[in-house]
Amino acid sequence: VAGFARVEPELVRALEAALGAANVTTDRAVLEPLGRDETEDLHGWPEVACFPATTEEVSAVLRLANEANVPIVPRAAGSGLSGGAVPVHGGIVLSVKRLDRILEIDEENLIATVEPGVITEKLQQAVEEKGLFYPPDPASKSWCNLGGNVAENAGGPRCVKYGVTKDYVLGLEAVLPSGEVVKTGGKLRKDVTGYDLTRLLVGSEGTLAFLTKIILELVPYPQERRTLMAPFASVREAAAAVARVFQARVTPCACELLTKAAIAAAETRIGPGFPPEVSGAEACLLLEVDGSDADALEKDFLRVGEACLAAGAQDVLVAQSPERARELWRIRRTVGEAVKRLCRYRELDVAVPRSRVPDALDAVDSVLGPLGIRHISYGHAGDGNLHVNILKDALPDAEWTEKLPRACAAIIEKVVALGGTISGEHGIGLVQKDLMPLQLGAAELRLMREIKRVFDPRGIMNPGKLLPDGEGRLIARDLTRRIC
Ligand SMILES: Cc1cc2nc3c(=O)[nH]c(=O)nc-3n(C[C@H](O)[C@H](O)[C@H](O)COP(=O)(O)OP(=O)(O)OC[C@H]3O[C@@H](n4cnc5c(N)ncnc54)[C@H](O)[C@@H]3O)c2cc1C
Repeated sequence: VAGFARVEPELVRALEAALGAANVTTDRAVLEPLGRDETEDLHGWPEVACFPATTEEVSAVLRLANEANVPIVPRAAGSGLSGGAVPVHGGIVLSVKRLDRILEIDEENLIATVEPGVITEKLQQAVEEKGLFYPPDPASKSWCNLGGNVAENAGGPRCVKYGVTKDYVLGLEAVLPSGEVVKTGGKLRKDVTGYDLTRLLVGSEGTLAFLTKIILELVPYPQERRTLMAPFASVREAAAAVARVFQARVTPCACELLTKAAIAAAETRIGPGFPPEVSGAEACLLLEVDGSDADALEKDFLRVGEACLAAGAQDVLVAQSPERARELWRIRRTVGEAVKRLCRYRELDVAVPRSRVPDALDAVDSVLGPLGIRHISYGHAGDGNLHVNILKDALPDAEWTEKLPRACAAIIEKVVALGGTISGEHGIGLVQKDLMPLQLGAAELRLMREIKRVFDPRGIMNPGKLLPDGEGRLIARDLTRRIC
Protein backbone atom coordinates (compact mmCIF):
# COMPACT_ATOMS: atom_id res chain seq x y z
CA VAL A 1 0.00 0.00 0.00
CA ALA A 2 1.39 3.38 -0.97
CA GLY A 3 2.48 5.61 1.89
CA PHE A 4 2.17 9.36 2.07
CA ALA A 5 4.73 11.78 0.72
CA ARG A 6 6.83 13.95 3.04
CA VAL A 7 6.36 17.71 3.10
CA GLU A 8 9.10 18.94 0.78
CA PRO A 9 10.49 22.51 0.88
CA GLU A 10 8.81 23.12 -2.46
CA LEU A 11 5.39 22.40 -0.89
CA VAL A 12 6.15 24.71 2.04
CA ARG A 13 6.99 27.49 -0.44
CA ALA A 14 3.72 26.88 -2.31
CA LEU A 15 1.77 27.01 0.97
CA GLU A 16 3.52 30.26 1.92
CA ALA A 17 2.64 31.73 -1.46
CA ALA A 18 -1.02 30.81 -0.91
CA LEU A 19 -1.37 31.92 2.75
CA GLY A 20 1.46 34.38 3.34
CA ALA A 21 4.70 33.25 5.01
CA ALA A 22 3.48 34.40 8.46
CA ASN A 23 0.66 31.85 8.34
CA VAL A 24 2.72 28.77 7.56
CA THR A 25 5.28 27.38 9.98
CA THR A 26 7.71 24.51 10.39
CA ASP A 27 8.95 25.86 13.73
CA ARG A 28 9.10 22.84 16.07
CA ALA A 29 8.14 24.94 19.08
CA VAL A 30 4.85 25.79 17.36
CA LEU A 31 4.37 22.28 15.97
CA GLU A 32 4.93 20.49 19.30
CA PRO A 33 1.56 21.35 20.96
CA LEU A 34 -0.20 20.73 17.65
CA GLY A 35 0.95 17.12 17.91
CA ARG A 36 -1.52 16.23 20.64
CA ASP A 37 -5.01 16.79 21.99
CA GLU A 38 -6.41 16.00 25.46
CA THR A 39 -6.25 12.23 24.94
CA GLU A 40 -3.71 10.66 27.24
CA ASP A 41 -0.48 9.13 25.96
CA LEU A 42 -0.70 10.33 22.36
CA HIS A 43 1.70 12.61 20.58
CA GLY A 44 2.43 12.84 16.89
CA TRP A 45 4.38 15.42 14.89
CA PRO A 46 3.04 17.48 12.03
CA GLU A 47 5.62 18.58 9.49
CA VAL A 48 4.05 21.97 8.88
CA ALA A 49 1.15 23.99 10.30
CA CYS A 50 -1.10 26.25 8.23
CA PHE A 51 -3.36 29.01 9.53
CA PRO A 52 -5.76 30.03 6.75
CA ALA A 53 -8.21 32.92 7.19
CA THR A 54 -10.57 32.31 4.26
CA THR A 55 -12.30 29.45 2.49
CA GLU A 56 -10.17 30.18 -0.58
CA GLU A 57 -7.00 29.72 1.46
CA VAL A 58 -8.31 26.43 2.90
CA SER A 59 -9.09 25.31 -0.62
CA ALA A 60 -5.58 26.17 -1.81
CA VAL A 61 -3.97 24.18 1.04
CA LEU A 62 -6.13 21.12 0.39
CA ARG A 63 -5.49 21.21 -3.35
CA LEU A 64 -1.72 21.41 -2.80
CA ALA A 65 -1.78 18.61 -0.20
CA ASN A 66 -3.88 16.37 -2.39
CA GLU A 67 -1.61 16.87 -5.38
CA ALA A 68 1.44 16.15 -3.24
CA ASN A 69 -0.20 13.16 -1.46
CA VAL A 70 0.45 14.73 1.95
CA PRO A 71 -1.91 14.14 4.94
CA ILE A 72 -4.11 16.94 6.27
CA VAL A 73 -5.09 16.99 9.93
CA PRO A 74 -7.89 19.49 10.63
CA ARG A 75 -7.43 21.09 14.02
CA ALA A 76 -9.67 23.23 16.20
CA ALA A 77 -8.94 23.77 19.93
CA GLY A 78 -7.37 20.34 20.51
CA SER A 79 -9.68 19.46 23.43
CA GLY A 80 -10.64 16.16 21.80
CA LEU A 81 -10.62 12.97 23.86
CA SER A 82 -10.25 10.37 21.12
CA GLY A 83 -7.03 11.51 19.46
CA GLY A 84 -8.87 12.98 16.46
CA ALA A 85 -6.52 15.95 16.02
CA VAL A 86 -3.30 13.99 16.58
CA PRO A 87 -1.19 13.84 13.38
CA VAL A 88 -0.07 10.22 13.25
CA HIS A 89 1.24 10.37 9.70
CA GLY A 90 2.97 13.74 9.82
CA GLY A 91 1.78 16.09 7.08
CA ILE A 92 -0.05 19.39 7.45
CA VAL A 93 -2.00 20.52 10.49
CA LEU A 94 -4.73 22.79 9.15
CA SER A 95 -5.86 25.05 11.97
CA VAL A 96 -9.13 26.97 12.40
CA LYS A 97 -7.40 29.56 14.61
CA ARG A 98 -7.89 32.47 12.19
CA LEU A 99 -11.35 31.29 11.07
CA ASP A 100 -12.92 32.60 14.26
CA ARG A 101 -15.69 35.01 13.31
CA ILE A 102 -19.35 34.94 14.26
CA LEU A 103 -20.58 35.96 10.82
CA GLU A 104 -24.22 36.60 11.64
CA ILE A 105 -26.82 36.23 14.35
CA ASP A 106 -30.05 36.33 12.38
CA GLU A 107 -32.71 37.29 14.92
CA GLU A 108 -35.48 37.07 12.36
CA ASN A 109 -34.84 33.40 11.62
CA LEU A 110 -33.15 32.44 14.92
CA ILE A 111 -30.05 31.22 13.11
CA ALA A 112 -26.33 31.91 13.61
CA THR A 113 -23.66 31.54 10.95
CA VAL A 114 -20.15 31.04 12.27
CA GLU A 115 -16.66 30.05 11.24
CA PRO A 116 -15.28 26.85 12.78
CA GLY A 117 -12.78 28.55 15.10
CA VAL A 118 -15.42 30.31 17.24
CA ILE A 119 -15.23 29.21 20.90
CA THR A 120 -18.50 27.50 21.83
CA GLU A 121 -19.10 29.62 24.95
CA LYS A 122 -18.41 32.80 23.00
CA LEU A 123 -21.31 32.03 20.65
CA GLN A 124 -23.50 31.11 23.61
CA GLN A 125 -22.76 34.44 25.30
CA ALA A 126 -23.29 36.40 22.10
CA VAL A 127 -26.71 34.87 21.47
CA GLU A 128 -27.77 35.06 25.11
CA GLU A 129 -27.35 38.82 24.93
CA LYS A 130 -30.15 38.71 22.35
CA GLY A 131 -32.38 36.43 24.45
CA LEU A 132 -31.38 33.40 22.39
CA PHE A 133 -29.87 30.06 23.26
CA TYR A 134 -27.39 27.68 21.63
CA PRO A 135 -27.78 24.65 23.93
CA PRO A 136 -24.99 22.11 23.14
CA ASP A 137 -22.58 22.56 26.03
CA PRO A 138 -19.58 20.23 26.22
CA ALA A 139 -17.86 20.60 29.58
CA SER A 140 -14.94 22.06 27.60
CA LYS A 141 -17.16 24.84 26.21
CA SER A 142 -14.97 27.66 27.55
CA TRP A 143 -12.22 26.73 25.09
CA CYS A 144 -13.35 24.15 22.52
CA ASN A 145 -14.41 25.39 19.07
CA LEU A 146 -17.63 24.96 17.14
CA GLY A 147 -15.71 23.35 14.26
CA GLY A 148 -14.45 20.65 16.62
CA ASN A 149 -17.95 20.29 18.10
CA VAL A 150 -19.49 19.73 14.68
CA ALA A 151 -16.70 17.37 13.59
CA GLU A 152 -17.24 15.32 16.76
CA ASN A 153 -21.00 15.86 17.04
CA ALA A 154 -20.34 16.97 20.61
CA GLY A 155 -22.81 16.59 23.41
CA GLY A 156 -22.90 17.84 26.99
CA PRO A 157 -25.19 17.96 30.03
CA ARG A 158 -28.03 19.94 28.44
CA CYS A 159 -28.27 17.66 25.45
CA VAL A 160 -30.66 15.40 27.34
CA LYS A 161 -33.44 17.91 26.74
CA TYR A 162 -32.16 19.95 23.81
CA GLY A 163 -30.32 17.44 21.63
CA VAL A 164 -26.68 17.26 20.55
CA THR A 165 -24.72 19.37 18.06
CA LYS A 166 -26.17 17.58 15.02
CA ASP A 167 -29.64 18.73 16.02
CA TYR A 168 -28.56 22.36 15.57
CA VAL A 169 -26.53 22.19 12.36
CA LEU A 170 -28.74 23.38 9.51
CA GLY A 171 -26.02 23.79 6.92
CA LEU A 172 -22.31 23.73 6.25
CA GLU A 173 -19.68 25.03 3.92
CA ALA A 174 -16.87 22.51 3.55
CA VAL A 175 -13.80 22.07 1.38
CA LEU A 176 -13.11 18.68 -0.17
CA PRO A 177 -9.56 17.33 -0.46
CA SER A 178 -9.72 18.24 -4.15
CA GLY A 179 -10.08 21.89 -3.12
CA GLU A 180 -13.72 22.06 -4.28
CA VAL A 181 -16.06 24.00 -1.99
CA VAL A 182 -19.40 22.37 -1.18
CA LYS A 183 -22.41 23.94 0.51
CA THR A 184 -24.93 21.74 2.26
CA GLY A 185 -28.30 22.70 3.73
CA GLY A 186 -28.84 26.36 4.54
CA LYS A 187 -30.95 28.57 6.75
CA LEU A 188 -33.59 25.92 6.34
CA ARG A 189 -35.51 23.94 8.90
CA LYS A 190 -37.01 21.78 6.17
CA ASP A 191 -34.86 20.52 3.32
CA VAL A 192 -35.18 17.05 1.81
CA THR A 193 -33.41 17.73 -1.47
CA GLY A 194 -31.20 14.70 -2.02
CA TYR A 195 -29.00 12.90 0.47
CA ASP A 196 -28.45 14.67 3.76
CA LEU A 197 -24.82 15.67 3.33
CA THR A 198 -24.98 17.94 6.37
CA ARG A 199 -25.70 14.98 8.66
CA LEU A 200 -22.97 12.98 6.96
CA LEU A 201 -20.35 15.66 7.59
CA VAL A 202 -21.42 16.21 11.21
CA GLY A 203 -19.41 13.75 13.29
CA SER A 204 -17.08 12.85 10.40
CA GLU A 205 -14.06 13.76 12.56
CA GLY A 206 -12.18 15.62 9.82
CA THR A 207 -11.92 12.48 7.69
CA LEU A 208 -14.09 13.68 4.78
CA ALA A 209 -13.74 17.44 4.37
CA PHE A 210 -12.63 20.61 6.14
CA LEU A 211 -15.51 22.70 7.54
CA THR A 212 -15.29 26.42 6.86
CA LYS A 213 -18.77 27.72 7.76
CA ILE A 214 -21.48 26.42 10.05
CA ILE A 215 -25.14 27.44 10.08
CA LEU A 216 -26.68 26.81 13.50
CA GLU A 217 -30.21 26.85 14.77
CA LEU A 218 -30.94 28.89 17.90
CA VAL A 219 -33.86 28.67 20.31
CA PRO A 220 -35.35 31.19 22.74
CA TYR A 221 -33.37 31.44 25.97
CA PRO A 222 -35.19 29.69 28.85
CA GLN A 223 -35.38 32.38 31.51
CA GLU A 224 -36.07 30.17 34.50
CA ARG A 225 -34.11 27.24 35.86
CA ARG A 226 -33.91 25.19 39.05
CA THR A 227 -30.96 23.02 39.97
CA LEU A 228 -31.23 20.16 42.42
CA MET A 229 -29.07 17.41 43.84
CA ALA A 230 -30.24 14.01 44.98
CA PRO A 231 -27.79 11.87 47.02
CA PHE A 232 -28.17 8.08 47.02
CA ALA A 233 -26.85 5.29 49.24
CA SER A 234 -25.54 3.32 46.26
CA VAL A 235 -24.41 3.94 42.69
CA ARG A 236 -26.91 1.39 41.41
CA GLU A 237 -29.82 3.19 43.10
CA ALA A 238 -28.73 6.52 41.63
CA ALA A 239 -28.35 4.97 38.19
CA ALA A 240 -31.74 3.27 38.42
CA ALA A 241 -33.36 6.56 39.46
CA VAL A 242 -32.45 8.13 36.11
CA ALA A 243 -35.14 6.32 34.14
CA ARG A 244 -37.64 6.95 36.99
CA VAL A 245 -37.16 10.70 36.67
CA PHE A 246 -38.11 10.62 32.99
CA GLN A 247 -41.06 8.35 33.73
CA ALA A 248 -42.43 11.27 35.76
CA ARG A 249 -43.04 12.82 32.30
CA VAL A 250 -40.68 15.72 32.82
CA THR A 251 -37.61 16.20 30.67
CA PRO A 252 -34.93 17.81 32.82
CA CYS A 253 -32.42 19.89 30.89
CA ALA A 254 -29.64 18.02 32.68
CA CYS A 255 -29.44 14.70 34.51
CA GLU A 256 -25.87 13.92 35.54
CA LEU A 257 -24.66 10.96 37.57
CA LEU A 258 -21.68 11.50 39.86
CA THR A 259 -20.09 8.87 42.05
CA LYS A 260 -18.40 9.59 45.39
CA ALA A 261 -14.97 9.12 43.80
CA ALA A 262 -15.79 11.53 40.97
CA ILE A 263 -16.95 14.20 43.40
CA ALA A 264 -13.88 13.66 45.60
CA ALA A 265 -11.57 14.07 42.60
CA ALA A 266 -13.19 17.40 41.66
CA GLU A 267 -13.31 18.70 45.24
CA THR A 268 -9.69 17.75 45.80
CA ARG A 269 -8.83 19.86 42.79
CA ILE A 270 -10.90 23.00 43.39
CA GLY A 271 -11.97 22.67 47.03
CA PRO A 272 -15.20 21.50 48.63
CA GLY A 273 -18.40 22.93 47.21
CA PHE A 274 -21.12 20.31 47.19
CA PRO A 275 -23.37 20.02 50.26
CA PRO A 276 -21.89 17.50 52.77
CA GLU A 277 -24.95 15.23 52.35
CA VAL A 278 -23.97 14.90 48.70
CA SER A 279 -20.19 14.60 49.03
CA GLY A 280 -20.71 11.93 51.69
CA ALA A 281 -23.14 9.85 49.63
CA GLU A 282 -22.07 6.96 47.40
CA ALA A 283 -23.53 8.72 44.35
CA CYS A 284 -25.76 11.61 43.41
CA LEU A 285 -27.80 12.95 40.54
CA LEU A 286 -27.33 16.58 39.55
CA LEU A 287 -30.54 17.64 37.87
CA GLU A 288 -31.79 20.82 36.29
CA VAL A 289 -35.17 21.84 34.90
CA ASP A 290 -35.63 24.96 32.81
CA GLY A 291 -38.32 26.86 30.96
CA SER A 292 -39.89 30.26 30.57
CA ASP A 293 -43.01 29.82 32.69
CA ALA A 294 -42.09 30.00 36.39
CA ASP A 295 -45.29 28.29 37.60
CA ALA A 296 -44.97 25.36 35.18
CA LEU A 297 -41.32 25.04 36.08
CA GLU A 298 -42.16 24.84 39.79
CA LYS A 299 -44.44 21.88 39.07
CA ASP A 300 -41.80 20.15 36.93
CA PHE A 301 -39.23 20.71 39.60
CA LEU A 302 -41.44 19.14 42.29
CA ARG A 303 -42.19 16.17 40.03
CA VAL A 304 -38.48 15.54 39.48
CA GLY A 305 -37.72 15.83 43.20
CA GLU A 306 -40.57 13.47 44.09
CA ALA A 307 -39.42 10.96 41.46
CA CYS A 308 -35.94 10.98 43.00
CA LEU A 309 -37.33 10.41 46.50
CA ALA A 310 -39.59 7.62 45.23
CA ALA A 311 -36.52 6.04 43.62
CA GLY A 312 -34.72 5.99 46.97
CA ALA A 313 -32.90 9.34 47.14
CA GLN A 314 -31.73 10.13 50.67
CA ASP A 315 -32.72 13.76 50.20
CA VAL A 316 -33.33 16.37 47.52
CA LEU A 317 -31.43 19.62 47.85
CA VAL A 318 -32.18 22.74 45.84
CA ALA A 319 -29.66 25.39 44.79
CA GLN A 320 -30.76 28.56 46.56
CA SER A 321 -29.59 31.00 43.93
CA PRO A 322 -28.26 31.12 40.36
CA GLU A 323 -24.78 31.72 41.84
CA ARG A 324 -25.02 28.54 43.90
CA ALA A 325 -26.23 26.61 40.84
CA ARG A 326 -23.24 27.94 38.87
CA GLU A 327 -20.91 26.77 41.66
CA LEU A 328 -22.42 23.26 41.57
CA TRP A 329 -21.94 23.16 37.80
CA ARG A 330 -18.37 24.39 38.11
CA ILE A 331 -17.62 21.36 40.28
CA ARG A 332 -19.38 19.06 37.84
CA ARG A 333 -17.39 20.49 34.91
CA THR A 334 -14.15 19.97 36.79
CA VAL A 335 -14.70 16.23 37.26
CA GLY A 336 -13.32 15.17 33.86
CA GLU A 337 -10.10 17.09 34.21
CA ALA A 338 -9.70 16.14 37.89
CA VAL A 339 -10.10 12.41 37.28
CA LYS A 340 -7.55 12.57 34.47
CA ARG A 341 -4.96 14.00 36.84
CA LEU A 342 -5.18 11.17 39.36
CA CYS A 343 -2.99 8.73 37.42
CA ARG A 344 -2.68 7.22 33.96
CA TYR A 345 -6.10 6.24 32.68
CA ARG A 346 -8.11 5.25 29.66
CA GLU A 347 -11.52 6.78 29.16
CA LEU A 348 -14.40 4.98 27.51
CA ASP A 349 -17.39 7.08 26.49
CA VAL A 350 -20.12 4.49 26.09
CA ALA A 351 -23.83 5.14 25.75
CA VAL A 352 -26.72 2.77 26.40
CA PRO A 353 -30.50 3.16 26.49
CA ARG A 354 -31.22 5.21 29.61
CA SER A 355 -32.89 2.31 31.44
CA ARG A 356 -29.74 0.19 30.98
CA VAL A 357 -27.39 2.59 32.81
CA PRO A 358 -27.34 0.41 35.97
CA ASP A 359 -26.58 -2.67 33.84
CA ALA A 360 -23.80 -0.82 32.02
CA LEU A 361 -22.18 0.07 35.34
CA ASP A 362 -22.53 -3.55 36.49
CA ALA A 363 -20.90 -4.64 33.22
CA VAL A 364 -17.93 -2.35 33.85
CA ASP A 365 -17.56 -3.71 37.40
CA SER A 366 -17.83 -7.29 36.19
CA VAL A 367 -14.93 -6.79 33.77
CA LEU A 368 -12.62 -4.60 35.84
CA GLY A 369 -13.26 -6.11 39.29
CA PRO A 370 -11.63 -9.49 38.60
CA LEU A 371 -8.69 -7.73 36.95
CA GLY A 372 -8.12 -5.64 40.08
CA ILE A 373 -8.55 -2.41 38.11
CA ARG A 374 -10.40 0.58 39.55
CA HIS A 375 -12.65 2.92 37.55
CA ILE A 376 -14.31 6.25 38.13
CA SER A 377 -17.47 6.50 36.10
CA TYR A 378 -19.79 9.46 35.80
CA GLY A 379 -21.57 11.37 33.12
CA HIS A 380 -24.65 12.36 31.23
CA ALA A 381 -26.80 9.56 32.62
CA GLY A 382 -30.03 11.09 31.29
CA ASP A 383 -28.62 10.40 27.83
CA GLY A 384 -27.38 6.97 28.91
CA ASN A 385 -23.86 8.31 28.29
CA LEU A 386 -21.17 7.30 30.78
CA HIS A 387 -17.54 8.37 30.95
CA VAL A 388 -15.79 5.31 32.29
CA ASN A 389 -12.30 6.25 33.42
CA ILE A 390 -10.24 3.11 33.83
CA LEU A 391 -7.41 3.92 36.25
CA LYS A 392 -3.93 2.46 36.10
CA ASP A 393 -3.19 3.32 39.75
CA ALA A 394 -0.11 1.33 40.82
CA LEU A 395 -0.50 -1.40 38.19
CA PRO A 396 2.90 -2.15 36.63
CA ASP A 397 3.26 -0.81 33.07
CA ALA A 398 3.51 -4.24 31.47
CA GLU A 399 0.38 -5.46 33.22
CA TRP A 400 -1.53 -2.30 32.26
CA THR A 401 -0.53 -2.62 28.61
CA GLU A 402 -1.54 -6.25 28.56
CA LYS A 403 -4.84 -5.98 30.47
CA LEU A 404 -6.21 -2.69 29.19
CA PRO A 405 -7.10 -3.60 25.57
CA ARG A 406 -8.76 -6.82 26.71
CA ALA A 407 -10.71 -4.97 29.38
CA CYS A 408 -11.88 -2.28 26.93
CA ALA A 409 -12.99 -4.85 24.37
CA ALA A 410 -14.83 -6.88 27.03
CA ILE A 411 -16.66 -3.77 28.30
CA ILE A 412 -17.65 -2.71 24.78
CA GLU A 413 -18.94 -6.19 23.98
CA LYS A 414 -21.19 -6.04 27.04
CA VAL A 415 -22.31 -2.49 26.26
CA VAL A 416 -23.21 -3.46 22.69
CA ALA A 417 -25.17 -6.44 24.05
CA LEU A 418 -27.17 -3.93 26.12
CA GLY A 419 -28.09 -2.09 22.91
CA GLY A 420 -25.35 0.48 23.46
CA THR A 421 -22.62 2.16 21.47
CA ILE A 422 -18.84 2.63 21.71
CA SER A 423 -18.97 6.42 21.80
CA GLY A 424 -21.77 8.73 22.90
CA GLU A 425 -19.94 11.99 22.21
CA HIS A 426 -16.14 11.87 22.20
CA GLY A 427 -15.88 10.18 18.81
CA ILE A 428 -13.86 7.26 17.54
CA GLY A 429 -10.69 9.03 16.45
CA LEU A 430 -7.54 7.08 16.97
CA VAL A 431 -8.10 5.39 20.31
CA GLN A 432 -11.43 3.66 19.68
CA LYS A 433 -11.18 2.68 16.01
CA ASP A 434 -10.07 -0.88 16.67
CA LEU A 435 -13.24 -1.39 18.74
CA MET A 436 -15.51 -0.57 15.78
CA PRO A 437 -15.93 -4.18 14.55
CA LEU A 438 -17.36 -5.06 17.98
CA GLN A 439 -20.37 -2.90 17.14
CA LEU A 440 -20.56 -2.58 13.36
CA GLY A 441 -20.92 -5.40 10.87
CA ALA A 442 -18.94 -5.91 7.68
CA ALA A 443 -21.62 -4.23 5.56
CA GLU A 444 -21.75 -1.09 7.72
CA LEU A 445 -17.97 -0.81 7.78
CA ARG A 446 -17.78 -1.31 4.02
CA LEU A 447 -20.31 1.49 3.47
CA MET A 448 -18.28 3.81 5.69
CA ARG A 449 -15.06 2.98 3.83
CA GLU A 450 -16.75 3.60 0.50
CA ILE A 451 -18.13 6.94 1.69
CA LYS A 452 -14.62 7.90 2.76
CA ARG A 453 -13.27 6.95 -0.67
CA VAL A 454 -15.88 9.05 -2.48
CA PHE A 455 -14.99 12.19 -0.51
CA ASP A 456 -11.29 11.51 -0.24
CA PRO A 457 -10.00 9.11 -2.91
CA ARG A 458 -6.35 9.53 -1.93
CA GLY A 459 -7.06 9.13 1.78
CA ILE A 460 -5.29 12.33 2.86
CA MET A 461 -7.99 13.64 5.22
CA ASN A 462 -7.06 12.86 8.80
CA PRO A 463 -5.64 9.42 7.99
CA GLY A 464 -5.57 6.73 10.65
CA LYS A 465 -8.78 7.96 12.30
CA LEU A 466 -12.32 6.64 12.73
CA LEU A 467 -12.10 3.55 10.47
CA PRO A 468 -10.41 0.44 11.80
CA ASP A 469 -7.14 -0.58 10.20
CA GLY A 470 -6.97 -3.28 7.62
CA GLU A 471 -7.79 -1.69 4.33
CA GLY A 472 -6.59 1.11 2.12
CA ARG A 473 -3.80 2.85 3.92
CA LEU A 474 -0.94 1.41 5.86
CA ILE A 475 -1.76 2.54 9.38
CA ALA A 476 0.86 2.35 12.12
CA ARG A 477 -0.40 -0.10 14.71
CA ASP A 478 2.41 0.56 17.11
CA LEU A 479 1.91 4.16 18.06
CA THR A 480 4.80 4.13 20.47
CA ARG A 481 7.08 4.43 17.44
CA ARG A 482 5.52 7.81 16.80
CA ILE A 483 5.78 9.18 20.30
CA CYS A 484 8.53 11.73 20.67
C1 LIG B 1 -12.29 18.64 30.26
C2 LIG B 1 -13.00 18.19 29.00
C3 LIG B 1 -14.37 18.03 29.03
C4 LIG B 1 -15.05 17.60 27.88
N1 LIG B 1 -16.41 17.48 27.92
C5 LIG B 1 -17.09 17.10 26.82
C6 LIG B 1 -18.52 16.99 26.84
O1 LIG B 1 -19.18 17.25 27.85
N2 LIG B 1 -19.13 16.60 25.71
C7 LIG B 1 -18.42 16.32 24.56
O2 LIG B 1 -19.04 15.98 23.55
N3 LIG B 1 -17.08 16.41 24.52
C8 LIG B 1 -16.39 16.80 25.60
N4 LIG B 1 -15.02 16.91 25.56
C9 LIG B 1 -14.30 16.54 24.34
C10 LIG B 1 -14.01 17.71 23.37
O3 LIG B 1 -14.01 18.96 24.04
C11 LIG B 1 -15.02 17.71 22.23
O4 LIG B 1 -14.87 16.55 21.43
C12 LIG B 1 -14.94 18.94 21.31
O5 LIG B 1 -16.01 18.90 20.42
C13 LIG B 1 -13.63 19.02 20.54
O6 LIG B 1 -13.53 20.34 20.02
P1 LIG B 1 -12.13 20.98 19.65
O7 LIG B 1 -12.42 22.34 19.14
O8 LIG B 1 -11.19 20.92 20.77
O9 LIG B 1 -11.68 20.01 18.46
P2 LIG B 1 -10.28 19.26 18.23
O10 LIG B 1 -9.94 18.41 19.38
O11 LIG B 1 -9.27 20.22 17.73
O12 LIG B 1 -10.69 18.35 16.98
C14 LIG B 1 -11.66 17.34 17.14
C15 LIG B 1 -11.88 16.65 15.77
O13 LIG B 1 -12.46 17.57 14.87
C16 LIG B 1 -11.71 17.65 13.67
N5 LIG B 1 -11.83 19.03 13.19
C17 LIG B 1 -11.50 20.15 13.86
N6 LIG B 1 -11.79 21.23 13.10
C18 LIG B 1 -12.31 20.77 11.95
C19 LIG B 1 -12.77 21.40 10.75
N7 LIG B 1 -12.78 22.72 10.60
N8 LIG B 1 -13.21 20.62 9.75
C20 LIG B 1 -13.21 19.27 9.86
N9 LIG B 1 -12.79 18.63 10.96
C21 LIG B 1 -12.34 19.37 11.99
C22 LIG B 1 -10.31 17.25 14.08
O14 LIG B 1 -9.56 16.74 13.00
C23 LIG B 1 -10.58 16.18 15.11
O15 LIG B 1 -10.82 14.95 14.48
C24 LIG B 1 -14.32 17.33 26.69
C25 LIG B 1 -12.94 17.52 26.68
C26 LIG B 1 -12.28 17.93 27.82
C27 LIG B 1 -10.79 18.12 27.76
